[in-house]
Amino acid sequence: MGIIEAKNLVHEYIIRDEEGNVESIQTALDHMDLKVEPGQFIAVLGHNGSGKSTFAKHINALLTPTEGTLIVDGMDASDEDNTYAIRQTAGMVFQNPDNQIIASVVQEDVGFGPENIGVPTDEIWERVERSLKSVGMWKYREHSPNKLSGGQKQRVAIAGVMAMEPKCIILDEPTAMLDPDGRKEVLAAVHTLNREKGVTIILITHYMEEVVDADYVYVMDQGKVVMEGNPRGIFSQVDTLQEHRLDVPQITLLAHELQRAGLPLADGILTREELIDALERIVKGR
Ligand code: ADP
Ligand code: MG
Repeated sequence: MGIIEAKNLVHEYIIRDEEGNVESIQTALDHMDLKVEPGQFIAVLGHNGSGKSTFAKHINALLTPTEGTLIVDGMDASDEDNTYAIRQTAGMVFQNPDNQIIASVVQEDVGFGPENIGVPTDEIWERVERSLKSVGMWKYREHSPNKLSGGQKQRVAIAGVMAMEPKCIILDEPTAMLDPDGRKEVLAAVHTLNREKGVTIILITHYMEEVVDADYVYVMDQGKVVMEGNPRGIFSQVDTLQEHRLDVPQITLLAHELQRAGLPLADGILTREELIDALERIVKGR
């Protein structure tokens, strides 16, 4: 059984005027299907407005389905009795690190969540240490979050979620406000959590480069899953990606254009090294 399973998931936002009359209905998720196995690193890609954040908020029980079902670790997200347990199972990291950090010292911030749910003090400190170490921020434990870079703040926010020991972490465009170095730091930290702690990861992004190392990729458009597969399979469909208004990684695009110009290159080249290898083989006639 998957840790997260969406079946025919629909979400409608009901927009009301000042008197409370329904003005319009916005369908943000339109019969969406998706399944995530425990321990997987999943990426969800999609243009602005495709429904990614609406989906993410369902996994954390911030929104409930209008129709269809969403199961989180065996629990039906439509049942309000499950809300608390679902939030313990699936932690969420948002785009803006500044809205997620509350304490004035890093380690207190990370300890805040477990303290709030009544974890005994000794164990809080163990969790704080483990979480900060796993995102590479232990040496900043006594710093003020205000003085950290965006990437460092976001890693503290991730440690705060980790300290709650969720089985699954959803990251909703966690790198959107970061510079390239910050993006790399955060991505590396998330991959480490997945690999070493077995945490299931759902990474929502519109940076194609960030999905290259995912186990499986879902592409959303207009509230639907429109493509799914492993990164290589997804990136070999350059034209379809562009139809869904997504930019393909530079290297993949270059390889695609060279292929169209007649070079015998394989589909879905993802990295610079792969392209160089393939070109070398052509040049050397192998
Ligand atoms: P994404 O995260 O992929 O950019 P969203 O899930 O935020 O997409 O939005 C999906 C659709 O739902 C968009 O058309 C958006 O305008 C609409 N939407 C999002 N939040 C609300 C809201 N609170 N009220 C009404 N419509 C909303
Ligand atoms: Mg969004």
